[in-house]
Amino acid sequence: MESNVRVRFAPSPTGPLHIGGVRTALYNYLFAKKHKGTFILRIEDTDQTRYVANAEQYIVDALDWCAIPFDEGPTNNSIKGTFGPYRQSERKDLYKKHAALLLESGWAYYAFDTAEQLDIERKSHEEQGKTFIYNWHNRERGRLVNSLVLTDKEVQARIQNGDKYVIRFKSPQDETLVMNDEVRGEISIDTNVLDDKILFKSDGMPTYHLANIVDDHFMEISHVIRGEEWLPSMALHILLYRAFGWDAPKFAHLPLILKPVGKGKLSKRDGDKLGFPVFPLAYTNQETGDVSRGYKEDGYFADAFINMLALLGWNPGTEQELFSLEELIAAFDLKRVSKSGAKFNPEKTNWFNQQYMQSKDDVELTELFLPILSEKGISKPKEYVQKVVQAIKERAVFVADFWELSDFYFQNPSEYDEKATKKNWKPETNELMQELIAILSAIDDFSTSNTEILVKEWITAKEIGFGKVMQPLRLSLVGALKGPHLFDIMEMIGKEATISRIEKAIATL
Ligand code: GLU
Repeated sequence: MESNVRVRFAPSPTGPLHIGGVRTALYNYLFAKKHKGTFILRIEDTDQTRYVANAEQYIVDALDWCAIPFDEGPTNNSIKGTFGPYRQSERKDLYKKHAALLLESGWAYYAFDTAEQLDIERKSHEEQGKTFIYNWHNRERGRLVNSLVLTDKEVQARIQNGDKYVIRFKSPQDETLVMNDEVRGEISIDTNVLDDKILFKSDGMPTYHLANIVDDHFMEISHVIRGEEWLPSMALHILLYRAFGWDAPKFAHLPLILKPVGKGKLSKRDGDKLGFPVFPLAYTNQETGDVSRGYKEDGYFADAFINMLALLGWNPGTEQELFSLEELIAAFDLKRVSKSGAKFNPEKTNWFNQQYMQSKDDVELTELFLPILSEKGISKPKEYVQKVVQAIKERAVFVADFWELSDFYFQNPSEYDEKATKKNWKPETNELMQELIAILSAIDDFSTSNTEILVKEWITAKEIGFGKVMQPLRLSLVGALKGPHLFDIMEMIGKEATISRIEKAIATL
């Protein structure tokens, strides 16, 4: 059965999606799926001055990469067509009609004040140490020019004359508005502190407030889940529902994502400074040419990124940190969204990536590693590469780490770590390594277990420390004192390469 839960992610296409926006989309998605409801993408593009042409595509691509698909939205109108269109610029008539309804019912009024007049008001208030708010305490005093003080005739004459006007909401006076937020609980506000917000602008476009309420109503949105920055607008929105005679949806305001230091909202600059992306995908600013990095391009797995974001402001009430998307859907609950800001921790994102790396299928990881190898001119059978991946992945955070962790599986060391050589390649080492070559040459079965037993037997018989052989051997094969189990490496690269690498080390060191 179809549930009545309908939620929307409603970004304005003003630039790339910040991770805060992605988290809002994710929580909406999780909530929708948990309740077998519908997740909608609505593009709020009424502010033409801030419109950025490639931003909508960016948003769609980002949701696609994150694998949080929308059920209804601008690019799949056909799925459930009755609620579209999903771009506000394509719904202008609806907003105009509803602004007119509010004028008729007395919940809104025309205001003809010019920007200069309002500026004068603002300044004169400031001089008296006050803040200018356009509302009940001055809207009918005569200094402001609006349809509350002008006669109908005067209003019509001005409109006919082409005078610029806006339509403002007439906020009620002397009322304590009690509201409920799913995250924050009860909030009450004195309506006297509200200003008469503009609902319709002189350019013939609605403001965010009007368009948002009209759309949420006609799209039958049941829950508005959005960022904390919209909490101050909640009172106006609830009053607008009342003015239209509509039922308001439920509201849930999500906590801010804070800088790693814990104070202030996480910004792109923090990312630049500390070296992590704040956007899901890389983004090129078409005007400046500036490129911002993205989680995808930086090599993060989408599911690790999503897992990290899910826990940024929500917790399951248990110690569990690793969640598949299905598990997140099952566990998600607005009641466990925190009221206070969530500190962003870039190292934790790497931790998640490393954890996801371990659970990724080796075949899948091999497919990601092969192009990196072929770019380096290395072609090896898939089965070989897969074994390498298996051996090194526990040390990798990103696929891009693979090469550095595994180059010795594919090529001879091009240099030897200087410090390690000094410490471990002693005058007597050459002779020891010659002897080792002789031992190895005699071994037919070059499997890990066999070489390990035979080499260790030889070392024990010689009554020398293991390090005296094993460290120079590692240097010979790897070029440094790093990498997995040495006998595994030998089995992988084979007898011939093992011996020739030792020979080369003897000749070089
Ligand atoms: N267009 C608003 C934004 O860009 C939407 C806010 C809301 O969800 O109501 O965040």
